[in-house]
Amino acid sequence: MAESTSPTVHLAASPSGEKAPCDPNGWGSTPELSVVVPLYNEEASLPHLVEKLLNALRPIGRSFELVLVDDGSRDGTAALLREQTTRIPELVAVLLRRNYGQTAAMAAGFDASQGPLIVTLDGDLQNDPEDIPLLLSQLEQSNLDLVSGWRHQRQDNRLSRLLPSLLANRLIAGVTGVRLHDYGCSLKAYRREVVADMNLYGELHRFLPALAFIEGARIGEVKVNHHPRRYGRSKYGIDRTFRVLMDLLTVWFMKRFLTRPMHVFGFAGLLTLGAGLGIALWLMGEKLLLGTDIGARPLLLMAVLAILSGVQLFGFGLLAELQMRTYHESQGRPIYRVRATVRGRETLGSG
Ligand code: UDP
Ligand code: MG
Repeated sequence: MAESTSPTVHLAASPSGEKAPCDPNGWGSTPELSVVVPLYNEEASLPHLVEKLLNALRPIGRSFELVLVDDGSRDGTAALLREQTTRIPELVAVLLRRNYGQTAAMAAGFDASQGPLIVTLDGDLQNDPEDIPLLLSQLEQSNLDLVSGWRHQRQDNRLSRLLPSLLANRLIAGVTGVRLHDYGCSLKAYRREVVADMNLYGELHRFLPALAFIEGARIGEVKVNHHPRRYGRSKYGIDRTFRVLMDLLTVWFMKRFLTRPMHVFGFAGLLTLGAGLGIALWLMGEKLLLGTDIGARPLLLMAVLAILSGVQLFGFGLLAELQMRTYHESQGRPIYRVRATVRGRETLGSG
């Protein structure tokens, strides 16, 4: 084998320790495509969603599975999902015990899914299943690892949605270095190995392209349809803007300093400590040489504060270094990702 990365890297077992069965749908082999959809109180959209997905996917001639995750809905979503699995062989229903949030629901879907290609979308019919073939062809023809949808004619409220998202998109592009127009679009296609390399926490599903980029993925974008929400309500309000900003800080830190936290904290610590010691020396000189009284000087307070916080920052950096090592080593996470290892001997031998 010349290629050391295989398209069917399997994800870890789910947190409950229960492994996905090899052939849940009785195809005799794993499906080529897994469509993962998180659902929270989407009972009114669900029947239309499943129908649209089946209509969009059956004609493209690939085996597929629909992994629909009920994120602890309070309405009839879970019951409806259960009922539909009795009629639709491609359906895999994952029912979470409570509402964990969209990111966790997507992670649950990824873990239960089997295909080497994964497509995600929202369950509220705002994304259009008809766009899935477009995403897949872009992924395969341009040999990308992730293709993100771009809702170029987005159907949401201007003030509460489009404006914050315009600003957020600019900011995210600048900070993460991934050049996309629309980070908030859930309609995306991935190669499994990219998803398997990422750990999702909090609400980081919005930063999947950035996280994938950190793991070395090749990323593309295609224009997709977007519809207004017809049933149910959006699960997010304007307060999301603040949470996105905080997440952006995390992602920025992970991208720049994940494997070298000491470079941030150590540097800041040394600067502060140096400044503090400088001021303290100066004051000591004044006291010893000129006999000035320094007890009531604000500078003294500053020197003490700077020395203390310098030491703190430095210690924090050391702890972060330890923490980072634990993070990588305890999970067997390499600090690099190999796309392929090509050995001259094998290439020549097989040609
Ligand atoms: N969702 C979820 N768990 C949650 C919140 C949302 O699974 O706690 C799902 C929701 O059912 C939908 C998708 O995530 O399929 C996106 O949510 P929503 O449409 O409310 O977000 P918006 O389109 O308004 O950004
Ligand atoms: Mg929506």
